[in-house]
Amino acid sequence: MDARRLIPSVERVLQLEAVKSFSQVYGRRLTVEAARQALEQVRQIIVQTGRILEEEEILQRIERHLHTVTTASLLPVINATGVVLHTNLGRAPLSEEAMAAASQVACRYSNLEFDLEQGKRGSRLIHAEKLLCQLIRAEAALVVNNNAAAVLLSLAALANRRKVVIARSQLVEIGGGFRIPDVMRQSGARLLEIGTTNRVNLEDYRSTLEQKPALFLVAHRSNFKILGFTAEPQVAEIAHVAHESGIPLMVDLGSGALLDTAEFGLAHEPTVQEMIESGADLVCFSGDKLMGGPQAGIVVGKRALIEKLRRHPLARAVRADKLALAALSATLLHYLKEEATQKIPIWKMISLPVDEIYRRAWAWTEKLSQLGIKASVIEGTSTIGGGSLPGETLPTHLLAIRTKQPQLFLRKLRENSPPIIARIEQNLVAFDPRTVLADEEAPLLAAIESLREFIL
Ligand SMILES: *Cc1c(COP(=O)(O)O)cnc(C)c1O
Repeated sequence: MDARRLIPSVERVLQLEAVKSFSQVYGRRLTVEAARQALEQVRQIIVQTGRILEEEEILQRIERHLHTVTTASLLPVINATGVVLHTNLGRAPLSEEAMAAASQVACRYSNLEFDLEQGKRGSRLIHAEKLLCQLIRAEAALVVNNNAAAVLLSLAALANRRKVVIARSQLVEIGGGFRIPDVMRQSGARLLEIGTTNRVNLEDYRSTLEQKPALFLVAHRSNFKILGFTAEPQVAEIAHVAHESGIPLMVDLGSGALLDTAEFGLAHEPTVQEMIESGADLVCFSGDKLMGGPQAGIVVGKRALIEKLRRHPLARAVRADKLALAALSATLLHYLKEEATQKIPIWKMISLPVDEIYRRAWAWTEKLSQLGIKASVIEGTSTIGGGSLPGETLPTHLLAIRTKQPQLFLRKLRENSPPIIARIEQNLVAFDPRTVLADEEAPLLAAIESLREFIL
């Protein structure tokens, strides 16, 4: 007899009490689909091995299918890499206040585009923008979906079919295929490249004036450095040349620091305020890099220019959503209240004293040692990441574990719930306490304990 005849029908499986209860939890549609898939596997196993699965095994398979399908694919992970702004790990985690602000407007109605005073239609653009102008002392501000959109919109609104001057040393690729020259072309602007790969001077800028460019663009070299025989005028000097001929200067600052990174032992990253003071007419930057807020693209500067951006049809296509606006406003408030280093997670991490990190790493080894697991503390470095401060590091102390196979151990950590992302240093599996949030400590140590068989 053909063994496949022993396979129950989907209808029969659906009659089983256990499957009925799956159906109550997961819904009928997913349960039927899971039963079909499980039975298909049963069929394949019979064909390949001749083995007939027990009912219990079939039920397990159905449940596993249901579990896999209904588990979210976007999950929180523990970042033990020490890379503060990890682009692959969602860049900046939000402050509690920013999260609360977003969740308040998420599941209720809000005055997103309603003027409460006048009782009529308002603008979504006022909420974060008032705070931005106050904080940066800029005339006007506009928030869009991300900084790439801010660059695209600005160029489309100010330089469509016209020339934009940019130094060859700034024709950068940010990552994920985002290349400044491509975005410039996409906006309809024509590139007017000046200088060489390593050097550009004021005369290069001046020599473009007879071609009547629409805009000067300065792009921050976010993710690399050029060293050696290099030259680049100050933004204030470029602004001077631009303004003599009535040409606006835009700075794509990328990371957009609002605090002075030099106060935290890092190189000085030009701040948004400095760029405005230097005479930039527009400055654009990301909300989720060094600002430490939600994904957003922020443009600040001259009112007349921002007005052109607002009125451009692309503005609607790249607008920010209400959750981001709420989180952004709450993040900006931290700066205005001068509590950024106490409240904004990435600034808490960046400003964490190194002996505090040492104490945390030691406390972890103690807890592990009580569980009979050997670990040590080694010196290392944390980085900022997220296309900010290339080559700059902060000293740190790492929890280090000797394992049989470090790569395998990293994989096991990634398979944990929640997944943990660590790194290998000196052939040891290393965890940087700097980027591990306080409430992630217990699950981190529990995960290490659960992998004790792989630890030497
Ligand atoms: C990161 C970056 C961008 C892109 O910003 P997103 O917010 O990721 O869209 C653009 N320009 C520069 C210079 C950057 O560093």
